Amino acid sequence: MIRKFLHRVFRKALPSHAEGHEPHILPLKKHGIKPEHISPCAFKVTEGLRQAGFKAFVVGGAVRDILIGREPKDFDVATDAEPEQVRQVFRRSRIIGRRFRIVHVMCGQETIEVSTFRAMQPVDEDGEPKSSGDRSTDQESGRVLRDNVFGSQAEDALRRDFTVNALYYEPHKMEIWDYCHGVADLKAGVLRVIGDPARRYREDPVRMLRAVRLSAKLGLQLDSAARKPIHALAARLKDVPSARIMVEMEKLLLSGHAQQSVEQLRKENLHHGLLPLLDVIVEQPMGERFVMLALNKTDERIAQGKPVSPPYLFAALLWHEVLTTWNKFLEEGEREQAALFRAMDQVLDAQREMLAIPRRYDVTMKEIWTLQPRFLQRGGSRPFRLLEHPRFRAAFDFMLMRGESGEVDSELGEWWEEFQHADESQQQRMLLADDTPKKRRRKRKPKASAATGAPQQDAQS
Ligand code: ATP
Ligand code: MG
Repeated sequence: MIRKFLHRVFRKALPSHAEGHEPHILPLKKHGIKPEHISPCAFKVTEGLRQAGFKAFVVGGAVRDILIGREPKDFDVATDAEPEQVRQVFRRSRIIGRRFRIVHVMCGQETIEVSTFRAMQPVDEDGEPKSSGDRSTDQESGRVLRDNVFGSQAEDALRRDFTVNALYYEPHKMEIWDYCHGVADLKAGVLRVIGDPARRYREDPVRMLRAVRLSAKLGLQLDSAARKPIHALAARLKDVPSARIMVEMEKLLLSGHAQQSVEQLRKENLHHGLLPLLDVIVEQPMGERFVMLALNKTDERIAQGKPVSPPYLFAALLWHEVLTTWNKFLEEGEREQAALFRAMDQVLDAQREMLAIPRRYDVTMKEIWTLQPRFLQRGGSRPFRLLEHPRFRAAFDFMLMRGESGEVDSELGEWWEEFQHADESQQQRMLLADDTPKKRRRKRKPKASAATGAPQQDAQS
């Protein structure tokens, strides 16, 4: 009671986690979102639930994205119906999830994630999360491990990460329910954590990654209070299962703002331990240029609506680590192929301790890597065999990036560009022209560089 009274009178002076018990309800003329702005499936789900007597809202990223004129990636629905009740309303639906039980409702190709309003995370006097009810915390780190306590809509709003994500759209009445001044923050261009940022990061360290990703993606300024504790808490990301980090990193890398996000991660000191070797890679001059180039090209492709291949991107992010490890094994006298295979496995194993790069990416990543030395073989029948390789295109693009970043001579890229488009007699002439100087060059170079095509300076780094 007292709190509510104080909240009304001194709403600005109160700690922000006290805010939001009563939503600001914005009518259509204040926000302009009509049911046709959401997907037909999302509408079907909210309507189905409403007609069955439940509350149902489109929530989170979708509302936020529509408000700033972007097309939402997916639609999430929040409701007061419990998972079993949702399940009963929709024939094509199933309950999933261990940490949170949510319902997937399917219409055609689309899936809508429906979650029941959940309660806030209880904390102790120090603001550390504590165990209670059907919720357990990792005692040492304070991380929430299991969280299935249903709650009110206001509580559901307050346990969300950022104010701009705590917006609920009710399609039938065409209202936005705004619990934490998210609409105002969105207008002001601010990404603000709901509640005390340090406490919210301790509860779930992934929120620090989300802060970086969403501020880059949405063009919002991360609020200074939200930025401050990141440095001290960055190490807590080590407590998060690598599969979850992977989900968030993949979103970040494929957001269309990868370059900016990664630069921001470095600035916030969050890159250590994410891709555990990314810090090493970006500190090598060659590696940094290459990684930034790969990120930039990914962003460009997304801006043009072209598909991007995650394995290709991960192959690029890890390339200089593979290269360095490979050269080390070569210097130890190992044979070229064996050294490369051992280097690839060693690098992937090291990454996987922190970031669960899916095993299904391995084949493509390894093909792109193992095809690289074959671009140096420009005599005899080998270039023709390489052209026919199903992964030639990706490997060729990859080699061009190596050229662009200064790792290999750009002449190599030009040669292959010409060779693949030449007719057969031209190709034969090119082969002969190439063979002699290459042999001479090889004699002068140390073994390691001759195999990888890397300049000497790089082979030693
Ligand atoms: P995107 O547009 O990239 O999907 P998003 O904000 O929608 O961004 P989702 O992962 O789809 O991100 O999450 C949906 C919603 O769930 C968020 O808007 C937010 O309200 C809530 N949420 C997601 N992750 C967290 C978290 N770690 N802590 C608190 N709330 C979260
Ligand atoms: Mg989303």
